[in-house]
Amino acid sequence: MAEISTPHIPEGLWLKCPDCKETLFARELERNGRICPYCQHHFPLSAQERIELLLEGESWRPLRSELSGARLGIGTLEGIAVALGAVDPLADRERRSPSELLGALLPLLDRAARARHPLILCVPGGYGLSVKEPLPSGLLVAWHERLNALGDRRLPYLLVITDPSPEHGYRVPLPLGDVVIGEAAPEEVPPLGSPAEGKPAAFPFVDRFVIRSELRADLIHLVTFFTDPMRVHG
Ligand SMILES: [Zn+2]
Repeated sequence: MAEISTPHIPEGLWLKCPDCKETLFARELERNGRICPYCQHHFPLSAQERIELLLEGESWRPLRSELSGARLGIGTLEGIAVALGAVDPLADRERRSPSELLGALLPLLDRAARARHPLILCVPGGYGLSVKEPLPSGLLVAWHERLNALGDRRLPYLLVITDPSPEHGYRVPLPLGDVVIGEAAPEEVPPLGSPAEGKPAAFPFVDRFVIRSELRADLIHLVTFFTDPMRVHG
């Protein structure tokens, strides 16, 4: 009688969902935006995958980045040129300091302010917060100069916080955006709190929690609202 063998699946082609423990094929997961099709668990996206998720395919023009795992550049979101910075959640989250993050993103703020582009930053929760240092005041002044220049031109700074860290959740060592979005799977949305019920919000600086599959549409809506409010109302 022939021996029945289980088919051998090479490692790397499949993985287990940490939430629902289902076995997922890597290719299927990629096709689904790295969201578990069974429980909606959001797997981390690399900076490159984040850009591909949000911006139009051929529009990306990179800027040099001093931070490993981070991608900075200009691309279009529904035809609107935006300055986008994406930081890889798996690269050096624990080892980087607040000043490294602020310093590495500053050239992108420069470009956004000079070229008059809305600014979108996608940063993983807790990034750089394991390194204890006072926030570098010189860098913060430089940041606020650029953010003020954007504000004067009615250009938004949208901060998307991805991949909450076990220790720091959605906290990041950055000035908060005009709108702060927390990316979360439906099951993982922290309590928003309600003043009427006296419940404090888990992360009061997060304006809204958005699932990954709706993030691009949400950013398009916000960028359009800030840069061309008539179009949204019309
Ligand atoms: Zn799952």
